[in-house]
Amino acid sequence: DLDGLKYEPLLEVPQQRELGEKGHSVILSLRIMTNKKYKKHVMKSETEHADGAAGEKQAKVEQEEFEEFVTMDAGSGIVHTAPGHGQTDNFVGRHYGLPQVCPVDEHGHLTEKAGRFAGLSTSDANPAIVDFLKEEGKVMHSDYFTHRAAVCWRCKTPLIFRLSPQWYMKVDSLKEAILAANEKINWMPSFGRTRFQNWIADREDWCLSQQRYWGIPIPIWVCGKCGAKKVVGSRKELVENSLKPLEEGSLTDLHRHSVDSIELKCGACGGTMRRVKDIFTVWFDSGVTPWASLGYPFKNKELFEKMFPVALICESQDQIRGWFDALMLCSMAAFGKPSYQAVALMGWVLDEKGEKMSKSLGNVINAREGVEELGADASRLYYCNEIAPWEVQNFSKKNAGELLRNLSIFYNVLSFYRMYAPPDFKPVDLTPAVLAIEDKWLLSRLDTVSREVTEHFEKFEFHMVGRKLLDFAVNDFSRWYVKRVRDRVSPSAPEQDKRVCLSVMRQALETTARLFAPVTPFLSEYAFQQLRLSKDEKSIHYCTYPCGNSSDSELEKIMSAAMQVTELAASARQEAGIKLRWTIREIIVTGSETHAQCINQLNTLLCSACNSLSIKFLEKPPAGNQYVSASRDDFKVYLLKTLDEELKNTALFRELTRAIQESRKKNGFNVGESILLSVHADESTYEFLKSKATELKSAVGAATLSIVPQIEELSGQFEAQAQLEEKKAIAKYNKS
Ligand SMILES: [Zn+2]
Ligand SMILES: [Zn+2]
Repeated sequence: DLDGLKYEPLLEVPQQRELGEKGHSVILSLRIMTNKKYKKHVMKSETEHADGAAGEKQAKVEQEEFEEFVTMDAGSGIVHTAPGHGQTDNFVGRHYGLPQVCPVDEHGHLTEKAGRFAGLSTSDANPAIVDFLKEEGKVMHSDYFTHRAAVCWRCKTPLIFRLSPQWYMKVDSLKEAILAANEKINWMPSFGRTRFQNWIADREDWCLSQQRYWGIPIPIWVCGKCGAKKVVGSRKELVENSLKPLEEGSLTDLHRHSVDSIELKCGACGGTMRRVKDIFTVWFDSGVTPWASLGYPFKNKELFEKMFPVALICESQDQIRGWFDALMLCSMAAFGKPSYQAVALMGWVLDEKGEKMSKSLGNVINAREGVEELGADASRLYYCNEIAPWEVQNFSKKNAGELLRNLSIFYNVLSFYRMYAPPDFKPVDLTPAVLAIEDKWLLSRLDTVSREVTEHFEKFEFHMVGRKLLDFAVNDFSRWYVKRVRDRVSPSAPEQDKRVCLSVMRQALETTARLFAPVTPFLSEYAFQQLRLSKDEKSIHYCTYPCGNSSDSELEKIMSAAMQVTELAASARQEAGIKLRWTIREIIVTGSETHAQCINQLNTLLCSACNSLSIKFLEKPPAGNQYVSASRDDFKVYLLKTLDEELKNTALFRELTRAIQESRKKNGFNVGESILLSVHADESTYEFLKSKATELKSAVGAATLSIVPQIEELSGQFEAQAQLEEKKAIAKYNKS
């Protein structure tokens, strides 16, 4: 509707003059660049013009860099722009060569440039200007709009942007060196490097000055006569150049109240120099921390030179535009190199649902509360497990508690060890000759985990540290190794091998505790004190961290296969309804070369883990339908599901033992209390049970046992039963 409409501009601007007659028309629409690309565009087009490059290339640049401010679907089609009031408008203005008019002073009042409106505050001037235009008959339409506007962060007073002279650091001249240095900085995680690179590539010059009272005064003095500038670099320099005599010792506090009144003598013309009124932005303070904190170059010269650049800085990722940037700019300007070698980025902590924690939402979990409720170790473990340090953390108390329960499985291993090892237990030398294959495997796993965990720590991957340690402690150590060696540490086991097994367990417990020490310092110390020998360090936190040196990857590979075979055999049992405590006659495995080696080398261990009399590896599946099977990607397990007479008898015996033990427990018998037991079984089982009488007596703590042919002969107040298909046994017993 507005296309071709004539209007009279409020201000004469050069661009409009160049446009001539068209300058007074609405043109739909001029291409405007997206703000940050301004410089890039100017640089590109200048070089291309110099090269005499074709207009095609130029057009392409414009297409990439520019966007249309005027759209056909909203607004009046007229763009209001004020290059003297706001960054985007300033870029637009500079691009089209518009004057940067700023008729507002620092108190928010219009200046002489505003003619008849001079002296009015901007808010009072707005209606006055509209009224004036109405009087002149130049108003097409006047209205109010609601839109977002900047306010003071503290008192919420609306703000207006205006042009003002400031001090800048010229970043362009440092960019190339910073981008090169950034390549060598170890960003953890590595996406930090790209983000920092993008930030620096587009970075504007850095505004260093602020108009405040509190802060570090910018040490620049300007001559009132010739305009010469002097940057003062020390107290000594200030004293030497002062107009009035000064004592260096009296300059203890270099803030505005003391330095603003100091006048210097101009070296060029002899005139009087006064300090500029500005102070540094606090970000500049943060940027010079590495040397300002040590008083360098006035003191601690050696210390600073030894420590600079620092090994690691750690902050949240929003500091890419903040502290990391300030540190980099200051040290590149001062020393030509970055002040840090590695950066660790932290993610923010939110609540369980990913909401920001806030008092008004009532979802704040105070760190102290969390520690008191969950324990310091569980809280630490949580942050070394749940999520990568650089990801946003949705804190969940539930998950933290879950982890603690997992960790307690490891402490059950410690209790298990202490139950079987005498208090003065002296570990034996663990030479390869004395070790069982599961011992070798556990120590190898420990080595591998130590190496991996150390690497994860180095790479700031704390979440992998916690996960790998817990996985080792729970799945490898407790659920696999300890289960495999129960018989080796039982009271009736051979003494020499028992000592070897307990020594392996002790070493693994101690090393695992050391690996956990940075993650769960209190619990690890507790474990260490339980295991500590007189020659050991006083505290776990004095010990070296295990880094791992030699592991047997072949053994780990076949043991991992054995664990999988065991797991699969268990699920096949479940499908066929064969309990794990019932021994079966045969398991057949088909699969890869690794599985063949596993069955071959770990046969005894596997038979006991799967509770089978034999395990074989076959190239082809077994014939017949007497097998129940389960399969995974590259292997299959077949269980002979039919139980023959002997197996059934053994299974029934296990069931009966268990039933009596449970009944004892239910009826409040202590472990040491003995019973008077009588048992009756069906005809097919009777003889077998008789042959197992001694074993049964010791398993259930019976002082006497009578196996009776008739059910009526049973005697006792308490009863237990076991049944397996057609086989059945009943027991009655009394306190002895
Ligand atoms: Zn305010
Ligand atoms: Zn001068």
